[in-house]
Amino acid sequence: MTAQLQVFVLTIFPEMFGTPLRQGVVGKALNDGIAAVQVINLRDFARDRHATTDDRPYGGGEGMVMKPEPLALAVQQARRQATAVPRVILLSPQGRRFTQEVAAELVHKPSLALVCGRYEGVDERFRQRYVDDELSLGDYVLSGGELAALVIIDVLTRLIPGVLGCSDSASNETFSRNLLKHPQYTRPPRFEGLEVPAVLLSGDHEKIREHRLLASARRTLERRADLLPEAHFSRDEIVLLQRHGLWHEIEAAAKRHKKP
Ligand code: SAM
Repeated sequence: MTAQLQVFVLTIFPEMFGTPLRQGVVGKALNDGIAAVQVINLRDFARDRHATTDDRPYGGGEGMVMKPEPLALAVQQARRQATAVPRVILLSPQGRRFTQEVAAELVHKPSLALVCGRYEGVDERFRQRYVDDELSLGDYVLSGGELAALVIIDVLTRLIPGVLGCSDSASNETFSRNLLKHPQYTRPPRFEGLEVPAVLLSGDHEKIREHRLLASARRTLERRADLLPEAHFSRDEIVLLQRHGLWHEIEAAAKRHKKP
């Protein structure tokens, strides 16, 4: 089978990828050949006998900077091995934010190369010459891009058709339609005095669907009203939300959070 997602990871810590990539959904997708991840050790492209991949910053200052040559050679190696020209993505707290929407865009790229920075980051000239895109996981600083690369691989893999057991699982998840997912329950029906909502035990699928949509809408209003400008509802859903006095609130929140 040809992998539907091909990812190269460029790192000085290849050992960080072994265990995480063997577990759960990602482990199975890699094992089944639906996705392929190749970890490239940047040290293999260092020129000296100490396999040096970093050096002191010109102009002085704290920390070390990743040298451009090993990074460039590793990208060239990924290009040679790739089935299509890989999109080179630098993990960086200065990049655009990695969201479900960005993931949905990236999963259609035939090949990706994720560059994991360390220390103070990478030499600017490597970024200028080789990097197509920069992604940040969020407004905080990680010690390296490896955990960010693992997050991106995990999120993208879930989006490949057929990877999740039920074909529409990913489309029902939080963020897929800019609504948070409804609360979930499993057995037992009573836990520490708390009951599962009776409608979920009723077997009435239409009522359950309605209950879940209302719960999703309430939760999104409470926690992430900023998602609502991009949330879309069918005509039937709007009627239901109106009947429960939520539609007015949703419209008001969407207006409040709409970007100018
Ligand atoms: N000195 C850099 C700065 O202030 O922008 C931070 C460097 S950080 C310690 C080392 C590496 O971790 C970065 O080059 C990047 O690859 C990765 N990294 C750190 N925070 C990240 C984030 N929020 N998202 C993605 N990658 C991140």
